Amino acid sequence: MITGTIFDIKKYAIHDGPGIRTTVFFQGCPLSCWWCHNPESQPRHPVLLYRANRCALCGTCVETCPQNGISINGVATTDRTKCDVCGECAEVCYHGAREVSGREVTVAAVLAEIERDVPFYDQSGGGVTFSGGEPLLQPQFLAALLKECRTREIHTVVDTTGLAAWETIDRLRGDVNLFLYDLKLMDDARHRKYTGVSNRLILSNLVRLAESGEQIAIRIPLIPGINDDAKNLWQSAEFIARLPNITGIELMGYHDIAAAKYEALGREYPLPETIPPTEAEMQSAARYFKDFGLQVKIS
Ligand code: SF4
Ligand code: SF4
Repeated sequence: MITGTIFDIKKYAIHDGPGIRTTVFFQGCPLSCWWCHNPESQPRHPVLLYRANRCALCGTCVETCPQNGISINGVATTDRTKCDVCGECAEVCYHGAREVSGREVTVAAVLAEIERDVPFYDQSGGGVTFSGGEPLLQPQFLAALLKECRTREIHTVVDTTGLAAWETIDRLRGDVNLFLYDLKLMDDARHRKYTGVSNRLILSNLVRLAESGEQIAIRIPLIPGINDDAKNLWQSAEFIARLPNITGIELMGYHDIAAAKYEALGREYPLPETIPPTEAEMQSAARYFKDFGLQVKIS
């Protein structure tokens, strides 16, 4: 039985591909982007979140934790060196202050969720989107889901960072209707600094995928002070314009709503001073792509 680790299934999604979609979020990502709005998805294993603002300091979790890993000192502090993410504290916390992100599921269980909304897909031209984290980090699980969807004629989208062995992408691509492919920074040194990895494999995979004839929509997060400079925008546009089979570009403005999640994970938010771009700044960035004749959507 093939299983995988996911951290969420979102119903009625309208921003993850065409029509109304079910989005399945895979746990684990090989990148650690400073602006990541799902930081709980980065570890390959489940993680514990604790939201102090919801905590009533009732102490139930302290008594429940088998590792004696929780103490009350103004907040219910977790010693993460002791925590094995068993999730027992989350089960007894009736105030919703504790939550485990990431759970192991079977292909059949995910498929049952997907199939429930087939009438919505049929009406809207939608389907299922596999996102993350990085779905290509769990290739066997992803391949099985894609095959089952293909058998049922359910439209499939894979939302990817592009960081995977080409052979992995090549094996799966026949069962994917559309790739949403992230492009962050063209300069490799800056890409390493802000995402933790080189962009070389990501860019070469994108070229190979486009030349293989697959349908690709490019997603670019616009992060003030990191990738919104003229040089990066021009280089990105020029690179994309040379690729075949690009259906469009989505420019996604930075937002800071994930800051609370970093705190819940016991991590510092990497961009505390960054302000979301204005509509005018988004339009200005979009012009670089339009000048190359590319279709741009702002979100
Ligand atoms: S059980 Fe929940 S509300 Fe009670 S102390 Fe623990 S985290 Fe806080
Ligand atoms: S997840 Fe388990 S080990 Fe970790 S703090 Fe909660 S009860 Fe303790």
